[in-house]
Amino acid sequence: MTTPPGGLDAADPLAAFRDRFVIDDDLVAYLDGNSLGRLPRATAERLAGFVTEEWGGRLIRGWDAGWVDLPVTVGDELGAALLGAAAGQTVIADSTSVNIFKLLHAAASIRPDRNEIVIDATNFPTDRYLVESVAASRGLDVRWLEPDLVESITADVLAAVLGERTAVVVLSQVDYRSGTLLDLPGLTSLIHDAGAVVVWDLCHSAGVIPITLDVAEVDFAVGCTYKYLNAGPGAPAFLYVAERHLDAVTQPITGWWSAADLFAMADTYEASPTIRRMLSGTPNVGGILAVQEGVRLIAEAGVDRIREKSVALMAYAVELLDEAGLEIVTPREPELRGSHVTVRHRNARDITAQLIERGVIPDFREPDLIRLGLSPLTTSYAEVAAGVALLVELAR
Ligand SMILES: *Cc1c(COP(=O)(O)O)cnc(C)c1O
Repeated sequence: MTTPPGGLDAADPLAAFRDRFVIDDDLVAYLDGNSLGRLPRATAERLAGFVTEEWGGRLIRGWDAGWVDLPVTVGDELGAALLGAAAGQTVIADSTSVNIFKLLHAAASIRPDRNEIVIDATNFPTDRYLVESVAASRGLDVRWLEPDLVESITADVLAAVLGERTAVVVLSQVDYRSGTLLDLPGLTSLIHDAGAVVVWDLCHSAGVIPITLDVAEVDFAVGCTYKYLNAGPGAPAFLYVAERHLDAVTQPITGWWSAADLFAMADTYEASPTIRRMLSGTPNVGGILAVQEGVRLIAEAGVDRIREKSVALMAYAVELLDEAGLEIVTPREPELRGSHVTVRHRNARDITAQLIERGVIPDFREPDLIRLGLSPLTTSYAEVAAGVALLVELAR
């Protein structure tokens, strides 16, 4: 028998963080924080204050009182706490999808003599669709990887397609279905050895996996803030460009916020020499403040400690699922997985609907997958135990 969850929760050094979130629902287990993280109490207060005092009270003067710099200052905070990124390389802007579009163009622009973009067929739809779109508009070819869902992209799988034609490789650090965690430093250096550049999508790893973009010499990265960062539905995303590329990169949505002098209203466009050149239009101020609160909570807990709890929660969930004999499509090795575990079942769609009806919220993923997301700052062992117990009952 597995350990009862009460003792594990009592011994959890991060347990107190759960009280920092609004939890006034009647759910048995919220196992979807990897799709939409819970609302931090501090964020509810900050946004209320922003609406009445800053927006309502300052109106247009708010831009001069600090709003203008938020994309960069909060980008720097996020970069330092979550990405291992020195200042001046990260901004908060737009959606992940729009940022992928910009970064793909930026990446291709610094490899003009090469004509292939590499991506895996298992990647998240928006990443694949945007690769196809950018490749078509720049006259590039898409080179598809077809890895096993669970093993995902190893050095061997990637090495087989890299070559003199490779301009850009797009990879998700954690697979959105299987939860497989890729070797970011190792694959990055393999890509560099081939003379190409990489765009890492960190949507399912930022805030829950220690990331070292500068040390690994990553070129470009992107990720969203409404999953493990708890910044709310549609909160603006982040993007990272390594400082060594900043002078050379161009991007396609050259709005006034990316210009050298925002308020000069110049006749001709000149790109900002800083990371601001990746911005486009007026930022979503309320959204960025929510990102800042999410980042501060993670910084306070520490990504290393969050990862420790994630590993323990994952081991606990896998142990319970194994005991019940359910099929798992997530790696067996703790160091090869992110913070969600995925069960394959022929009735996955029906089971998910019944789970939701009974207060356990997982995610269904086509065609037969049930994804259990474990978000260490809010997910308790008791939730994992209760959620898995109901899943096991329904899966019989
Ligand atoms: C969640 C997710 C996205 C989301 O993109 P949006 O533009 O925010 O809709 C993109 N890529 C991956 C890998 C994701 O997991």
